[in-house]
Amino acid sequence: MAQSDVKETGKPAETAANGAGSASSTGSPGASTSPSPSFSLGANSSLSASSNPNGSSSPGANSGSSALFPSYARYPIHLVKGQGSWLWDDKGNRYLDFMSGLAVANLGHAPEKVKAKVKAQLDELWHVCNLFHIPQQETAARMLTEVSCADVVFFCNSGAEANEAAIKLARRYHQKVKGTERYEIITFEQSFHGRTLATLTATGQQKVKDGFLPLPAGFKTVPLYDMDALKAAIGPHTAAVMLEMVQAEGGVYPVDHGFVQELAALCREQGVLLIIDEVQTGMGRTGKWFAYQHYGIEPDIFTSAKGIASGLPAGAMLAKEYLREAFTPGTHASTFGGNPVIAAAIIATLETMKEERIPEHADEMGRYLISRLEKTFQAVPFVKEVRGKGLLIGIECAGPVADIVTLGQEKGLLFVTAGPNVIRLLPNLKVTKDDIDQAVAMLADVIAAYTAKEGK
Ligand SMILES: *Cc1c(COP(=O)(O)O)cnc(C)c1O
Repeated sequence: MAQSDVKETGKPAETAANGAGSASSTGSPGASTSPSPSFSLGANSSLSASSNPNGSSSPGANSGSSALFPSYARYPIHLVKGQGSWLWDDKGNRYLDFMSGLAVANLGHAPEKVKAKVKAQLDELWHVCNLFHIPQQETAARMLTEVSCADVVFFCNSGAEANEAAIKLARRYHQKVKGTERYEIITFEQSFHGRTLATLTATGQQKVKDGFLPLPAGFKTVPLYDMDALKAAIGPHTAAVMLEMVQAEGGVYPVDHGFVQELAALCREQGVLLIIDEVQTGMGRTGKWFAYQHYGIEPDIFTSAKGIASGLPAGAMLAKEYLREAFTPGTHASTFGGNPVIAAAIIATLETMKEERIPEHADEMGRYLISRLEKTFQAVPFVKEVRGKGLLIGIECAGPVADIVTLGQEKGLLFVTAGPNVIRLLPNLKVTKDDIDQAVAMLADVIAAYTAKEGK
């Protein structure tokens, strides 16, 4: 739908403002003044099931007339406005957002303080290249070291780039600082680390590697929890072990506490660096600033992106002091990384998180959401398990969930999957109990309708 339709009717913006006002002031589920998309299992809705994002084609989404590569299968919804936990489409339909732009809009949509700081910076100076000092970047880095075990930070623009920087730092540290021939990175099956050549090679899922041969050398993947395989894989060329604390894309599996402690000890004993990929789990998502903080360990290197700038593109690679000298001038760089506008967004995100105690709130709301889900679905055989940490939650089902995502959209609830059978919920970290109650009720309706229809 073209932008001009929005202007013609003037509806979405108007509805958005009213809707947001009524939602927060009344706190009542039915208070939206916007038309609610009608829920139906038939094909009479514009949001019918043809929109399966894993499907090969959907009319209008990936047609040959688009000037975009068809590398994304897109839902046929045109979102035009966001405020807090809510999104509006170009028809004025309102959606409760339990995906947060894939764990990015962690403070909700258009968070006030971030918006104000970014606007102020836009009035001053947009871009300074990294040949100059950038005070905003210094402040953002300092703040990140204050809430984590890191001492030094490198800013880039995405999660994959942050992981690339981590891999490069590990190799360079061993080869230039320690004078060893260590270069190999060991990762785990079902992990996800990004889409660049190095990070897709590190990723423990075949589907992201398909057709991209040859892959870079120097990576090994072992089954998670297979200590023998891990010990056998570690050798004189091993530079680092890299893992996520919750395998998010891989199905929302929080990694076992004892295993992580054993792994950290093994790395230390073998002179191997431990890299934690916190691209999805970091910045409060799991109820701590960074998910490794649940485990009583300190990684040598960890990465962040997604929620770090509340929706502006940013990534960070963070490391302990002894790794500082591995990245001497000229060794690694990013043109945009940590520019004043992005750094302002990171600072404002961190300030908001501190002031509003966002990690604690995420922890509390995560416990509430899991308990509500467990209670709601305890007698529903289709739902097999609810698991997760903080507000990164997976619902393992007895069958494929792609159609449930589409039905959720028709009902007005947005969420994603994590593999074929797992529903993944990623609400913003300021989510309220009222938001959660509404989302759980909608999800219960959708799953009941789906299982009734499918006879499950
Ligand atoms: C999203 C994600 C990435 C990749 O981040 P991009 O910003 O898309 O490059 C890497 N690792 C994990 C764990 C992620 O969730």
